Amino acid sequence: MTRERRGKIIATLGPASSSGDTIADLYEAGADVFRLNFSHGSHEDHAARIAKIRALEKKVGHPIGILMDLQGPKLRLGTFANEEGIVLKGNTAFRLDMDDTPGDETRVGLPHPEIFKALNPGATLLVNDGHVRFEVLDCGEDWANTKVIVPGSLTNRKGVNVPDVTLPLPAMTDKDIADLNFGLDLGVDWVALSFVQNPKDVIELKARVNDRATVIAKLEKPAALRHLDEIVQEADGVMIARGDLGVEVPLEQVPVLQKRIIRACRSVGKPSIVATQMLETMIKSPMPTRAEASDVATAVYDGADAVMLSAETAAGDYPVRAVTTMDRIISQVESDEHYLNMMAAGHKAHGDSAPDSITAAARQVAANLKAKAIVTYTTSGSTTLRAARERPPARILCLTPSESVARRFALVWGVHSVVKLAHTPDERIGAVAIETAAKEGLAEDGDLLVVTAGVPFGTVGSTNMIRVVRMGEQY
Ligand code: PGA
Ligand code: MN
Repeated sequence: MTRERRGKIIATLGPASSSGDTIADLYEAGADVFRLNFSHGSHEDHAARIAKIRALEKKVGHPIGILMDLQGPKLRLGTFANEEGIVLKGNTAFRLDMDDTPGDETRVGLPHPEIFKALNPGATLLVNDGHVRFEVLDCGEDWANTKVIVPGSLTNRKGVNVPDVTLPLPAMTDKDIADLNFGLDLGVDWVALSFVQNPKDVIELKARVNDRATVIAKLEKPAALRHLDEIVQEADGVMIARGDLGVEVPLEQVPVLQKRIIRACRSVGKPSIVATQMLETMIKSPMPTRAEASDVATAVYDGADAVMLSAETAAGDYPVRAVTTMDRIISQVESDEHYLNMMAAGHKAHGDSAPDSITAAARQVAANLKAKAIVTYTTSGSTTLRAARERPPARILCLTPSESVARRFALVWGVHSVVKLAHTPDERIGAVAIETAAKEGLAEDGDLLVVTAGVPFGTVGSTNMIRVVRMGEQY
């Protein structure tokens, strides 16, 4: 299936979307990448989903991306004696400690020694998506006395955020490492890591992944934003994880940060994903709010490569409709003549290497000639990423011998990938581009294609050729 849409859609799979039929319907409706959230579900559940996605991929004959999302060092409270939890009043005293005795209205366990080590009087602790807030009055090695600043109810194992301090946490927990190895063995294409705090976290993940997948840094901690450029440099892409981000920083900063992060990614040609609550009301309603439609459109206008659905597709009542809705919103933005102008205006100067220059030239030639597609022959995918960074009006056709490179590009703006297993002899470069563009429905007789490649074939990063060919002619 060849889609017109350039921006990509990631759909999270969960209880509402695990049957082969629903996964196929989500794909048909527009999902380009499926996300498996390892904060939920068993390995068995995820393995079954992966098998269904790969079966679908075989059936449709087009690469589909799988993104595994690692929970990361997520912090949680202990449990309460009362199953229903507790209700806290404002301005009261509450203690957090390392005692695993079930908690009550005066105290609860917080089984994370690293938090106590890093806390200072005056620091804020946020619980349950920031619904309840504590201010630390006094603290020691394994305890903190706090004051309830924003009251509310707490139940067992609610999530805890500590925005003010960089926590001395490992990048990955034992669970993450086990999940990662499991996912890599099953051939996931992207690995996203939650709660990245610094570039070292990404470097550690990349070392473990060892080129078996590409990695996404989830930006949801203020500490990560202080190292934004270095993290973008180390990662293969980023996710603006607005759920936790909006807890850890004041809400009004989220839209500004979203734009800043997308710009940082585009300036180095790495994909960005805008995630969380995009069509939140569609969990329960067949229609989104106008504000949600506007939010999806804004992410596209900002220049994101992909937008993501979480609970909408994983646990909602209208998973397929949520994808259809997103597809329509993105397509509408892309039909706005100002959209590509805005993309061009936000584009920073490219590098000065031969591949950079050739890609910039390909964009120019394709725009002048109104070519239907820029065809990139690529081994590592680097040329295709460069082309995507240009946000050209033409489609980007990625021809690669690597199935995993093709799958990774399911996430990247404007790219349609095709696996070309057989080596293309130099003299067949134009002909194969034409045959493939025709077969994939990207262009018709008479249309022009702009082809880039590295000749002789087979050397990574060797793009040195640009060529214009016309569909229907012999080469
Ligand atoms: P999560 O990440 O759904 O894994 O928490 C996304 C977010 O925080 O926005
Ligand atoms: Mn998160």
